[in-house]
Amino acid sequence: MKRILSSLAAAILSFAAMGAASAATPDVRMYRLDCGHMTLGDKSMLSDEGLYKGQSYDIVMSCYLIKHGDDWLLWDAGLPEKYLKGPLVEGTFTTRLDRTIVQQLADLGLRPADIGYVAVSHAHFDHSGQVDAFPNATLIIQRAELDAMADTRTAAERYIDASLYRTHIAGKTLTRVKVVDGDVDLFGDGTLKTIATPGHTPGSMALLVRLARSGNYVLSGDQWHFTENHHRHQVPTWNYDHDQTIRSGRKLDDVIARTHATLVIQHEPVDNAKLPKLPGFLD
Ligand SMILES: [Zn+2]
Repeated sequence: MKRILSSLAAAILSFAAMGAASAATPDVRMYRLDCGHMTLGDKSMLSDEGLYKGQSYDIVMSCYLIKHGDDWLLWDAGLPEKYLKGPLVEGTFTTRLDRTIVQQLADLGLRPADIGYVAVSHAHFDHSGQVDAFPNATLIIQRAELDAMADTRTAAERYIDASLYRTHIAGKTLTRVKVVDGDVDLFGDGTLKTIATPGHTPGSMALLVRLARSGNYVLSGDQWHFTENHHRHQVPTWNYDHDQTIRSGRKLDDVIARTHATLVIQHEPVDNAKLPKLPGFLD
């Protein structure tokens, strides 16, 4: 009898532990949003070793909406809305945006005010363009990136439309900025982790997403712009620091290998075509 009771107690305890475990691991889902398209008239910009001369190349702009329990986090904020009038030709870039992030969120029954966090891989215009469309969101950004944005010399050189972010830097909305340093577990449960990858810009980062059924994914920001550049370790001519970029690439490859993650190169059409279309998602 005693043995039956103790095994019953063990069963109850293990059931309670399972309950606790499932309560501690929130529902995490990842959606891919279409955040624009660009033709690079001069693909050789993507290699500071002089590859791709005379070629043009089509890339996609991507944002990712992540549901973490009751919270919604947007990873990257796409092109500015001015490209809705596109395609706009600027130098060798031809750029268009078909729908805003807010319009795509409406497909999921979400309002801009529902987005609690907007995390940017870096502050370039094609990753931060709609960051101000979310009135309740806390901006998540690496400290090095925020510092670089505040540095007017770097801002003028490195950021195409620094005025977009000035409200955040000026302190007006600074309480809604969560500054991260390096590799940070955003919710403390291992599901979403920033991976610092400086080099493309001073404070570039990637995101490791752990999904219960679909496995691990790495959203790689602009560490690489397309698959071949990843394999050949090419660095774009406009990157902030060549050697840092190479080091960050090795670091990210190591994270991907250790976590058996699927790499998503955010500008690579092939990688993004493999993800479900809205309202589909990975979980
Ligand atoms: Zn980019």
